[in-house]
Amino acid sequence: MFPNSANSQDETRDSRHCERGEAIQRDWLGSGLPRCARDDAPFPFRFPRWLRFRGAGKDSAPIDAIAAAITCNLRGLGLHARAKKYRDGFCEIVASTSPKMITLPHNAEASGLALLLAQKYDPPTLVFEEINSLKPGLGRAMIAAAVSGLGARPGLFQRIRVNDLSRRLHDGRRWWEHVAGAYPAFEWVVTHDEDFQTHKPPAAETDEFARKRAKLQQLAGEFGYDPAKVTLSPQKRVCDYLGQSFTAEGEAFCDGRIEIYYDPAMSDARMGCCLAHEIQHARYFVVREAYIAEAEGGPLHRRFAKFTSELLAARRGVSDYSNEHWDAWRGAASPALFSMELEEGGSEPINETIAEVAKALYNWGPEVRIDPVWKELREAVDEECERLAGGG
Ligand SMILES: [Zn+2]
Repeated sequence: MFPNSANSQDETRDSRHCERGEAIQRDWLGSGLPRCARDDAPFPFRFPRWLRFRGAGKDSAPIDAIAAAITCNLRGLGLHARAKKYRDGFCEIVASTSPKMITLPHNAEASGLALLLAQKYDPPTLVFEEINSLKPGLGRAMIAAAVSGLGARPGLFQRIRVNDLSRRLHDGRRWWEHVAGAYPAFEWVVTHDEDFQTHKPPAAETDEFARKRAKLQQLAGEFGYDPAKVTLSPQKRVCDYLGQSFTAEGEAFCDGRIEIYYDPAMSDARMGCCLAHEIQHARYFVVREAYIAEAEGGPLHRRFAKFTSELLAARRGVSDYSNEHWDAWRGAASPALFSMELEEGGSEPINETIAEVAKALYNWGPEVRIDPVWKELREAVDEECERLAGGG
């Protein structure tokens, strides 16, 4: 991944480079959900600390108890669900069938729900922000999960608000009007404002998104990478990695797919850096797979034998970001080339350092001063990747 490092408040620091990580390694191993590098909780189910320790208790803040109940109910529907508390009595809850936490209306990939508990509103109000359902009945089930969660502290949230642009059903009334009718005990405030901000067009429909997508395709071609495998995603991807929460800028998957996460503030230059980094991961995966499948002493083993753990560990990284991976390494011995670094040491010093070499070469040009060992290793990976792709 090419991270926009961010802390738990989601601030972004754009000079650092996040990580790819869990999803890829886990796909690679064929095991289930991606996991955090430093947390035993599978990534999508990571429970916010404030809920984990206080949410379920009888003496917890009422909004915490309600958020915990709603989140629990949504997980009961098989959804990934996450609650995030803000200052002053606001809590946002997001749930989705996708670990990417997609909730956008009209999205074809995943169902989801986003809501806000606004205790500071007068009266305290549950605001439904976004809902998308690809499965008959799931929309209503998600609403039921949320509304019944309010029962954790009965009477606190009596008002429910929604800006209703939902489709009209057979009787001419909109979907939300039917839903509201099913919960007459609550005071429903239903507006129909076409310009309401939560219904602004998805990023994927804007001109800037289309321009960035075209630019990304062009860059992929320039890197000699199949543009069909590179997509610009309108989703925001948050992952926990190296003990921090990151807003990822990009991700490389073991099957060669690369996703860059759209950010209107991302310059074309930064997008190019991000793509260079992710493509290098993808090439590394190709060679790693062949290397692991090969017998001891095979041509790949012979070619890469000189890049020993001791040699690479002595060199460490080529950037702040790659050095963070060296610092975070917790394996019993130094990381080995083409090993499952994340599994063994909780970070990926070698994989990331090579990706950072690619990024530096793109960013600064071929004259950039880079440790010659890493530069040679990166070239060897690319050559072998090309050979393997050509079947030669
Ligand atoms: Zn990376």
